[in-house]
Amino acid sequence: MNIKILIVTLCLPLSSAFVAAQTTLLKNIQGYSFNNKELQQFSAIQFTGDKIDRLITNNETIDEQTSWQVIDGKGATLMPGLIDAHGHVLSYGESLLQADLVKSKTEHQAVMRAVSFADKNPQSLWIKGRGWNQVQWPKKDFPTAKSLDKYFPDKPVFLERVDGHAVWVNSKAMSIANINKHTKSPAGGEIIRDSKGQPTGVFIDNAMNLIYEKIPALTIEQQKDILIKSMNSLASLGLTSIHDAGIDNDNLRAFRELANEGKMPIRINAMLYLPSQNWQDTLSKGTFYSPDNMLNFNSVKIQADGALGSRGAALIEDYSDHPGHKGLLLHDRKELEEYVDTAMQAGFQVNTHAIGDDANKVVLDIYQGAIKRFKTKELRHRVEHAQILRLDDIPRFNELSVIASMQATHATSDKNMAVDRIGSERILGAYAWRKLLNANAVIAAGSDFPVESPNPFFGLHASVTRQDNKDQPHNGWYPNEKMTRLEAFRSFTSSAAYAAHQEEIIGSLAVDKKADFILIDNNIFTMPETAIWQTKVLKTWVNGKLVFKR
Ligand SMILES: [Zn+2]
Repeated sequence: MNIKILIVTLCLPLSSAFVAAQTTLLKNIQGYSFNNKELQQFSAIQFTGDKIDRLITNNETIDEQTSWQVIDGKGATLMPGLIDAHGHVLSYGESLLQADLVKSKTEHQAVMRAVSFADKNPQSLWIKGRGWNQVQWPKKDFPTAKSLDKYFPDKPVFLERVDGHAVWVNSKAMSIANINKHTKSPAGGEIIRDSKGQPTGVFIDNAMNLIYEKIPALTIEQQKDILIKSMNSLASLGLTSIHDAGIDNDNLRAFRELANEGKMPIRINAMLYLPSQNWQDTLSKGTFYSPDNMLNFNSVKIQADGALGSRGAALIEDYSDHPGHKGLLLHDRKELEEYVDTAMQAGFQVNTHAIGDDANKVVLDIYQGAIKRFKTKELRHRVEHAQILRLDDIPRFNELSVIASMQATHATSDKNMAVDRIGSERILGAYAWRKLLNANAVIAAGSDFPVESPNPFFGLHASVTRQDNKDQPHNGWYPNEKMTRLEAFRSFTSSAAYAAHQEEIIGSLAVDKKADFILIDNNIFTMPETAIWQTKVLKTWVNGKLVFKR
């Protein structure tokens, strides 16, 4: 990778080399980074252009130059920019421009939110929304098209469940997609039906596509606009780099154009979704790194199973609350192997979504064989979520150098539902980040936004407390799995950077590393742990540029 960066840098027009980069001194701060695994403290940081020159401690003198820009941090805490190792940048941007159904307490309330959104956005040809969760409604039943039809007789409506694994639509949307009693559920998907076999308006996993493919696609220019809005919003939360967990070729092209135009406010590590259009072609062209490393493309995302809430996660034994049902793998084993093999042979890191213990086992088995065949252990393949693991599979992460890419807020959001789904035995291997750390696995932290809030302080808080933002449950959910503050901090910085092969340039602050850091309004190492989620970001720098200021 370094050789490639060097060549690209040498090819830049000569003129750019002669623009003297500005040196900035940011002083009067409580600075934190790592020296190997130890927490390191400093009181000022000096950087020139995109690179750090020096970390300065209290007893060192600073020879301030008149040409420098000097900023007074006023005693605020400074730390490396936070990295979300699993988020969805375009869908998050779209969610900012869609009906927000997250806190709706009933089906009717969700419908009314879609109605008020539609009133404010009369130009929308499709009404899109996201965030409903029937588990939080009184009857816990899936919603139906009927409740939408009353308010939307002529305009198609497409409302995604909070986990993105189910969609609720109206009759107009179903008629556009020619869905009727005779439409078969595709492999890896399910059309929910009433007692007469009539589709009720909810489509799960692969069945979502039957409707989704009818929505007019965004143009590249529209995507670029949404991506910029999304990335600016993420920067305001203290995120300086995102691993975008599964994008298609158009989305990748939009990012490449933004990177070429110098318009990326934060770094993106893009995973190509397999299978998506022309994926083999894209892989055959190889990995890609923008000269300033604002956009890296060296990984793929595969989906092994669905989610736990919708009982789509593939389990080895039956669901505890649905005998006879084990969930499902979205691809048969041969297909999964084809994706993994092709990606590894093309030199790509393979990141596979696995929630259920069966999906996790199958993915680790396939990785084990392919890593051996193609000698790709050093590519640091990943399991996205690694949510429910057989205890026997936990040591395999370290053995295979496979990274567990986990989301702490999934544990605190799922806590009321997870034990129902899998029972008190299997739960011991679920959301088990302490057991993974004890087995020397690397955990890269993320949020899976927009499934959860992208706010990384929610994740840091959930990692150390195993509680939600209302301090529930008391003492934490399965508190043995708590991380220390330092471990949680590392999972959102250096470990996440490692998971993207970027630990040499980001994830910690040191001489010659990239100037990616944030100034925050509280000290997450000394404040009460229950309040960590309330932390606010004051300023965000990426690549030496101030990209957000409160
Ligand atoms: Zn995801």
